[in-house]
Amino acid sequence: LFAGPVDFVKGVVAMNGLPEADRLEVCFAGRSNVGKSSLINALTGRKGIARASNTPGRTQEINYFTLGEERYLVDLPGYGYANAPLSVVEKWQRLLKQYLQGRQTLRRAFVLIDSRHGVKAVDEEIMTLLDSAAVTFQVVMTKADKVKEKDRQKVLDQVRGALSKHPAAFPELVLTSSEKGDGISTLRAIIAGLD
Ligand code: GDP
Repeated sequence: LFAGPVDFVKGVVAMNGLPEADRLEVCFAGRSNVGKSSLINALTGRKGIARASNTPGRTQEINYFTLGEERYLVDLPGYGYANAPLSVVEKWQRLLKQYLQGRQTLRRAFVLIDSRHGVKAVDEEIMTLLDSAAVTFQVVMTKADKVKEKDRQKVLDQVRGALSKHPAAFPELVLTSSEKGDGISTLRAIIAGLD
C-alpha cells in the first residue's frame, strides 16, 4: 500500500528543522498513553519504530517517518502529561501551532481518543487548535478491544457530540485496536487515498 520503505527520518524541535515539504503528510496527536506509539507501530508494520514508552522531555520532538516514497507520517508529542513543567508545555504548544499553521503539505491530522474514555478537555484544546489552523482532523478510537460492545455506543455518542462543535472535524471515526489489528488496514487506506 505504501510503496517504498517505512523509516524514521528525524526528530524536529523547531520549524527550521522540518524536512523538505516534497510529499503529503499526515500527523498523529493524542494524550499520553492513548496508544499512539502502538498504533504507529501497527500501521507501519514495524514493531518499535515509534518509541513504545514516552516520557516528558524526550517527547517534545515532532517525529518524521516515511510511509514509502510519497507520504510522511508525523508523530506529534503526546499531550496531557500531569507532571510536565509549564515551560515545556508552552514551548511545545508554540511549535505545534507553528507547525499546524505553516505546513502546506499537511493533509490530515488524526486525533487519537481512547475508546474507554472519550474526548477530554485536553483533546478539545487540540481540536480547537486544528479548527483555527484549518487542518482537517479525523478521530481514531484506540484500544477498541478494551471496551465491551454494549459500552461502546455511549463513548461514540460522546465523541460525535464533541466533534459536532468543531468545523475542522471529519465526521467519520475510525475504530482501531493495535492489539487485535482492527481498523489498521482501514486507516492505511485512508492515508494512501489522500491527495
Ligand atoms: P502512547 O503513550 O500514546 O504512545 O501509548 P502506547 O502505545 O505506549 O500505549 C499505552 C499502553 O496502552 C501500553 O501499555 C499499550 O500496550 C496499551 N495499548 C496500546 N494500544 C492498545 C490496544 O489496541 N489494545 C490494548 N488492549 N492495549 C493497548
